[in-house]
Formats: sequence, structure tokens, C-alpha cells
Amino acid sequence: MKIIMLGAPGAGKGTQAQMIADKYNIPHISTGDIFRANIKNGTELGKKAKEYMDKGLLVPDELTVELLLDRVANEDCKDGYVLDGFPRTIPQADVLDAELTKLGDKVDFAVNVDVPDENIVRRMSGRRACLKCGATYHIEHIPPKQEGICDKCGSELVLRADDAPETVQNRLSVYHEQTQPLIDYYDKKGILRTVDGTKDMKDVFDAIVDILNA
Ligand code: ADP
Ligand code: AMP
Repeated sequence: MKIIMLGAPGAGKGTQAQMIADKYNIPHISTGDIFRANIKNGTELGKKAKEYMDKGLLVPDELTVELLLDRVANEDCKDGYVLDGFPRTIPQADVLDAELTKLGDKVDFAVNVDVPDENIVRRMSGRRACLKCGATYHIEHIPPKQEGICDKCGSELVLRADDAPETVQNRLSVYHEQTQPLIDYYDKKGILRTVDGTKDMKDVFDAIVDILNA
């Protein structure tokens, strides 16, 4: 099963993608996590990506598309995957579509996690991320068992540099301009499914499982 998660930054794509990955035993692929790992390791790609990410801008398609295509060509992706944060532009979606068509394949579902902008800033300021394994928490809604420590791998949790309120506003504008058009794009292909992302994370997940199992 090949699934794309759509939604504003902070809508809960990563949280749900990880739960989907665990339940269906497919990899959770987050381009944001891949960029953050590159930044942490001081790679050339990380240095370039950081310039854009810190401002709340999208990393250019030239740096993003190849990276994603390489990742999904891995052996662990042969039975499917859940993409979180890709595609974020129409050209990215076109490239993915063309690549899958070449392989006689397609995306099965684009799941849109719908959360109004008003809720987003609050969610982002409480988000804590593990830069080692990609797990995400919220200090109020989804706290780790031990404050500041990742339940999954024991690493330190951090407030992401791009979760500062000013940057979040930029990311929301960029989302509406460049990424939201993908909702129409996948609707026209007949694979768009929208869930109410303001609900409790377990209820959101139940709605997604109903969609995937339908
Ligand atoms: P995205 O991947 O879309 O940027 P995340 O999955 O990282 O979003 O979620 C953003 C923040 O909101 C995180 O702190 C996460 O723990 C929290 N969160 C996710 N889903 C919910 C939910 N249903 N209710 C409340 N908080 C949530
Ligand atoms: P995320 O972890 O999905 O919130 O992504 C964090 C940041 O990484 C985004 O704000 C972008 O700067 C960058 N990024 C992640 N995925 C993409 C993508 N598909 N295209 C362009 N930039 C991306």
C-alpha cells in the first residue's frame, strides 16, 4: 500500500504516518526527517536545506525529488510506504506519479489531515521532536513518559528550530500557496480522503484505518 499524507505543517501527518507504518508494517518516510538528519550530520545537503528550512521555506524541488526517489527505490519499500511531507508541490507530485507509472504502479490513498490554522500555532509550540528516530510528542496532548526523553530510543527531545511562532506563520503561508493545491490534484485522481485532524490522535487514526481497510 502506498499512502501520501497531506495537511498543514503540524496537522499531525507525522504522528499518524508513524502509527500507519507500525500497523501495516511499511516504512514511514519523512523528507523533513531526512533533511534534519542531514543537518545533524553536517552534510552538504543538510547545509543547503537548513537555509530554507530555518526560514520556513520549502527546500527546492531539485534537492528533494532525487532524494525521495532514491529512498522509495530501497528494498524495504517494495510492499509500500507512507510518505509524510512529500509531495509538497505539484511538480513533486508529477515526478512521483511519472516514476510510479513507469513501474506500472500508483499511489493508493492521499490522506488529508484537516486542521484549521488557528489550532496549528498552539500545536507547534508544544511539539517536541526526537532528531534521532523521528518520533514526535506534544508537551500537553502527547507527552513522553519521561520529560524531554524519547520513549522509543531514549534520546533527548528538542523544540525544532522551525517551530518558532514567526516561522510557523511563514510555513502556513507556504503551505496554502504551494502545497494545498495538491488536495485538488489528488481529489481529481479519485484517491483523496479527508479526516478531521482536530480530534484526539486515536480517533484520527481509527478514521484513517477505516479508510485504508475499506
Ligand atoms: P506534522 O507531521 O503534520 O507536521 P506532527 O505529527 O508532528 O505534525 O504533529 C504536530 C504536533 O501536534 C506534535 O506535537 C504532535 O504530538 C501533536 N499532535 C499530533 N496529532 C495530534 C492530535 N490529534 N491532537 C493533539 N495534538 C496532536
Ligand atoms: P516537516 O518535517 O515535514 O515539517 O518538514 C520540515 C521542513 O523541511 C519544511 O518546512 C521544508 O523546509 C523541508 N521539507 C520537507 N519536505 C519537503 C518537500 N517535500 N519539499 C520541500 N521542502 C521540504
